[in-house]
This record gives sequence, C-alpha cells and structure tokens, in this order.
Amino acid sequence: MNIIHNKSGWIEVICGSMYSGKTEELIRRLRRSQIARQNVTIFKPEIDNRYSDDHIVSHSDLKIPSIPVNSAAEIFNKAKDADVVGIDEAQFFGMDLVDVCQNLADAGKRVIVAGLDQDYRGEPFEPIPQLLATAEYITKTLAICMVCSNPANRTQRITADEERVIVGGSEIYEARCRNCFMPPKK
Ligand code: ADP
Ligand code: MG
Ligand code: ZN
Repeated sequence: MNIIHNKSGWIEVICGSMYSGKTEELIRRLRRSQIARQNVTIFKPEIDNRYSDDHIVSHSDLKIPSIPVNSAAEIFNKAKDADVVGIDEAQFFGMDLVDVCQNLADAGKRVIVAGLDQDYRGEPFEPIPQLLATAEYITKTLAICMVCSNPANRTQRITADEERVIVGGSEIYEARCRNCFMPPKK
C-alpha cells in the first residue's frame, strides 16, 4: 500500500473546575510529546503569574516551561514550527482562541487546551463551550468538594468580589460539588 495521507491535526480540550487537575493532565500530555522528540510549544496568559511568569505550574507543583502571551493571535504567530501546541488557562484568551485553535489544527498540529469551563457564578466560560464543540477529544476533570467530599465540578469564590476574572488560589477559590456550590446573588 502506497497511500500517503496528509498529516492531520486535532484539538484536545481538558476542562473542569479549579483544582480538578487540568494543568497536571496538560503537563503529563506535553511531557510525553517532548520525550518523543516532538516540537512542543507551550503558552500561558501573561495575566496568570500566580506561581511563575515563564512556567505552567500546577497546584501540586508540577511545572513545565511556557511562553507568556497576551492574546490568541500571539499564540498563532509563535506556534508556526510546533508539532504540538499546549495552552493553559484558555478562558483568559477570549473567543479569538477558537479560530486560532482551528487554524493550528488545520495546519496539522496537535492542539491541547486546558481551561475553566464555568466561571465563579457557574455560568459557561467562553471560549471553552465553543472549543468543546469543535474539539476531537474532550476530558472533564473533577476535584473533590471541600465541604462534603463529593466529586466537584464547580469553583466557589469565597470572597465577595464581582469581577469575572480575578486570578487567585485557595485564598479566593475552592472546589465544590453541585450541592455545596452557592452561586453569588445577582
Ligand atoms: P487545575 O489546573 O485544574 O486548577 P492543578 O492540576 O493545578 O488543577 O492541581 C490539581 C491538584 O490540586 C491536585 O493534584 C491536588 O494536589 C490539588 N488540590 C487542591 N485542592 C484540591 C481539591 N479540593 N480536590 C482535588 N485536588 C485538590
Ligand atoms: Mg490549572
Ligand atoms: Zn459538596
């Protein structure tokens, strides 16, 4: 058989609440690609400098070097030579990320995107819903509810702030199940 197929790219989405292991899973997949000597390019939003400016870092302290960027367009420009593109905290890049991921996958790249699927009100967090619709592979990760130990897919903000984007850790957010999650009053 002498059939030559064009190398096809694809999109993988890893989504869930805070502390559910999205970043751990992203790092696991990217490390395997690096070991297999693929050209791996990794991005995180500049706004997320909680643990590091130039590494993606999980709450369990796994880390991998990454490029801080301000926009989805910057990702496209800097991923030209990559076989595999990793993107963490995708919810901070807005709807432009959807086309960027599509274009990267169309160009034959494996695109692995991790991000929050719901905001602190429990509302779908763009662009994750749109990425889920266009991805080939979807993984939903769950944390453990800090109140009752059930599987947790919500992020409870434990401060009274009302902005949608507030970057923080356990001083601001905790994982909750659907029973224990209390959406903020409108
Ligand atoms: P995410 O990227 O989804 O916010 P990380 O991959 O950075 O999550 O971190 C996952 C790690 O967070 C877990 O392996 C565990 O060490 C820690 N962790 C903290 N709180 C919880 C919780 N309530 N449930 C599960 N893991 C938690
Ligand atoms: Mg994370
Ligand atoms: Zn609970």
